Amino acid sequence: MKLCRFNENRIGVVRGDAIHDVTGILESLPPVRYPAPVGDLLITHLERLRPEMERLADQAPPLPVAGQRLLSPVANPSKIIGTPANYSAHAAEARADKEIAVYHGGKIRSIEEQGLFLKAASALVGSSEGVAVRFPDRRTDHEAELGLVIGRTAANVSEADALSYVAGYAIALDMVVRGSEDRSFRKSIDTYAVLGPWLITADELGDPTALDFALSVNGENRQTANTKDMIVSIRRQIAWASEWYTLHPGDIIMTGTPAGVGRVQPGDMMTVRFERIGTMTVPVRAAD
Ligand code: MN
Repeated sequence: MKLCRFNENRIGVVRGDAIHDVTGILESLPPVRYPAPVGDLLITHLERLRPEMERLADQAPPLPVAGQRLLSPVANPSKIIGTPANYSAHAAEARADKEIAVYHGGKIRSIEEQGLFLKAASALVGSSEGVAVRFPDRRTDHEAELGLVIGRTAANVSEADALSYVAGYAIALDMVVRGSEDRSFRKSIDTYAVLGPWLITADELGDPTALDFALSVNGENRQTANTKDMIVSIRRQIAWASEWYTLHPGDIIMTGTPAGVGRVQPGDMMTVRFERIGTMTVPVRAAD
């Protein structure tokens, strides 16, 4: 199933080029009392609600995807986890670019030495909301990545079991202002975490470890890669993250970017195409 959130917090099932409005499913969520449970309530209950969502979708008239405003398919992640430079060609590119490189005592650190990082959940937007560039005199770069969404609570999970904790996948943009400040600071600007255009459930996607993907800006190709070329595997990223903190339903892992990162400016249009997921177009504007 492909799940989306659109317009004024409508919930949709995507079939072909159409969205079927299944917002009525929200009536089946348990009432929430303070303090709300950690994580995304719909993702927490997604597995249980899927049959009813499919039934609702069968009855709902098709709305053209193109006419709707797509929000992030996850509304309330407790955290967004990032994996640094996870493709060897990008790692080499980063080493050559002192605005990107992460130095430690004059030495470039490996992913295992750096660890994973966090982006603020408040940075999250959907594709139609777009990216609002801050600090326009500095570089804001795109990083096209496979995003995965955790489906059930995960703590100290093994690599062998890791994929069973995934609710689904989506296209992610890990946007960043380049510079010397802490990475979490530069990657947490409002709108600098894009997830969309929808979430495709893990069973429908199949194997996430051999997906072609590409990003273009204004029609000019910038990044082309395949998820088989990750340095740290998807399984390892989930297991590793869960050794350090509990993963909650709705948590997002942005699994790292390949070579070809580059600058975007207000007025640009980013297009990211992912095999088996779809195509996401994301406009870039100046922040207010
Ligand atoms: Mn990244």
